[in-house]
Amino acid sequence: MTDEATLVVIKPDAIKRGLAGRVLSRLEELRLEIIGAKVVRVGRELAEEHYKALRERPFFEELLELIQGNLHDTRYVLALVFWGPEAIARVRQATGSTHPEKADPLSLRGSLGRMTTTGVMENILHASADAIDAEREIKLWFTPQELLHNPFGSQHWESGVRRTVQR
Ligand code: UDP
Ligand code: MG
Repeated sequence: MTDEATLVVIKPDAIKRGLAGRVLSRLEELRLEIIGAKVVRVGRELAEEHYKALRERPFFEELLELIQGNLHDTRYVLALVFWGPEAIARVRQATGSTHPEKADPLSLRGSLGRMTTTGVMENILHASADAIDAEREIKLWFTPQELLHNPFGSQHWESGVRRTVQR
């Protein structure tokens, strides 16, 4: 099994509802290492860059508002990097599929996520979908200095967050 790094972002809806601890407890059961963790105030630029593949989707604007915390009056997230065997697929599996009502009921999204009566999808967390996304996202959210070790070998990268987020 290959060791991999994957990005998890505990979204403002989960922070607001006091669910961050439960998300972490559940992910700890995977016995992966946490090699990075921080509180981030997400700005528009980081939001757009993180979700740039979804730019053309009808929910894009709402998604930018959601990840910035503007829909929940909770303007921060917890960003973490998990490291270990098959980390990407295992964290995605524990996360469950995008729509909380379609997600496995035992997954984080299936058990803790919801659609609000006003139609906002509160799906608790972001988890990288594959190796390409994971590398791009970790390099966007973290500097090498912020991680216990560099998951991408000797390659260094510029701080994505400092470049794109107003603190
Ligand atoms: N999203 C949404 N409505 C949709 C699909 C997605 O609001 O119909 C939001 C949701 O927060 C999701 C994010 O956009 O987590 C990214 O979408 P993606 O398809 O990449 O889902 P994920 O990888 O998070 O499961
Ligand atoms: Mg995705």
